[in-house]
Amino acid sequence: MAEITMEKIISWAKRRGFVFQGSEIYGGLGGAYDFGPLGVELLNNIKAFWWKKVVQDREDYYGLDTAIFRHPRVWEASGHTTGFSDPMAECKNCNTRVRADKELIKIGVTADEKMSEEEIGKLFKENLGKIKCVKCGKSDFTDVRKFNLLIKSNYGDFTTKNTEPVYLPGEACQGIYLNYKNTLDSMHPKIPFGIAQIGKAFRNEISPRNFLFRCREFEQADTQYFIRPNENKDKYEEIKQERWKWHMDLGLSEKNLRWKQHENLVFYASDAWDIEYNFPTYGFDEIEGVHDRTDYDLTQHTKFSGVDLSYNEDGKKFIPWILETSMGVGRVFLAVISEAYVEEEVKDETRTVLKFPKHLAPIKVAILPLSKKDELSKPAREIFENLKDHFVCQYDETQSIGKRYRRQDEIGTPYCVTVDFDTLNDNAVTVRDRDTMKQERIDIKELLGYLQDRLK
Ligand code: ATP
Repeated sequence: MAEITMEKIISWAKRRGFVFQGSEIYGGLGGAYDFGPLGVELLNNIKAFWWKKVVQDREDYYGLDTAIFRHPRVWEASGHTTGFSDPMAECKNCNTRVRADKELIKIGVTADEKMSEEEIGKLFKENLGKIKCVKCGKSDFTDVRKFNLLIKSNYGDFTTKNTEPVYLPGEACQGIYLNYKNTLDSMHPKIPFGIAQIGKAFRNEISPRNFLFRCREFEQADTQYFIRPNENKDKYEEIKQERWKWHMDLGLSEKNLRWKQHENLVFYASDAWDIEYNFPTYGFDEIEGVHDRTDYDLTQHTKFSGVDLSYNEDGKKFIPWILETSMGVGRVFLAVISEAYVEEEVKDETRTVLKFPKHLAPIKVAILPLSKKDELSKPAREIFENLKDHFVCQYDETQSIGKRYRRQDEIGTPYCVTVDFDTLNDNAVTVRDRDTMKQERIDIKELLGYLQDRLK
């Protein structure tokens, strides 16, 4: 079997309407991607699966959708205005900027963005000979300096000074802390409980790269679980297991997933683990973080806002501790397409087929009349009209049936329903299974039930 590379996946994603470079007709904008007509369906299916499992199926979770723009003090309280930075060095030959920690990791040196400027600068200098510029190959870099990742806006500012900028969110979850009290006062949850939301995040990444993996604009699906002080250990383990199971239920395979513990914790954190996925070409890298954050977040927001964010349990007041999960939706999307992309040799031809789990497939059923003639298009349209209330369907009558099957394989449609001249006599259609390519003759009256059984 041919090797599956990220290059192949990126080219397929564009060709088949899943993901496009942002602002492509203007030469592209680094770190921004657009989801195409089929990509948005897949993205929505992933988000809906998360929402169902994390919010709707749970009695102890509450959902939110909070504003993107937040008060400037939020980012002071969270520590982002001072501490949210990555270590950057610039190639003196071609001015390409690189992330010092990531370049060190590439050559096998342990480093991360939480190290101080001095610490990482020293490591970078010691290893300079081994680090090559990704663009020109030279090993001649400036000193490492920390670069803040928050992106500013001029929201509500009509001056030219912009002294107190309203930032774009560096992480989506701050909206949850801002509405912790509103959720308490309106829903009266009993501790322990969680709040969840899917929201946009923006980071001025030094070198956006690896397609959807490192963008400047992306989406995060976050939960914050509020617990009594010191009751973190068991619950943290439970949440880790729930998140692992979620990725498996989504359809990622266990062999491509692994846990990685953070070696370097921020001062308030008690523990932190990442779930990593084994991407083609890029290898294992983070798709979700699970963090044991103690009482840091609500203590900070109490201090900076002046509003008491403690929880009152039978007259006993305390600031809840927080267990956080934060998943990159775009990274999980990339994992899903990487997992599904398969090339098979069929009759001396390469068949590209996206073996999406059925619940995620953008189109569930394609209805394909063998000819465009009225005698076939009429019954085929009727079938399409009946099925579209139940599944996302596509009607396609262009090109040969073989080409249409291949096209549906390439977008991962689990079932193709072909209406042919025999249909006019036997009131039956041919249903073709994407994965086995087996075809079955099914009575039109039974078709809905047949598909419902298989697409449950
Ligand atoms: P990294 O070390 O890769 O920069 P991080 O540890 O800074 O990631 P978190 O702040 O924990 O990431 O964010 C939670 C999740 O958001 C990550 O697990 C990842 O899936 C996603 N994420 C973070 N940064 C980006 C980005 N630049 N582009 C796309 N997704 C991202």
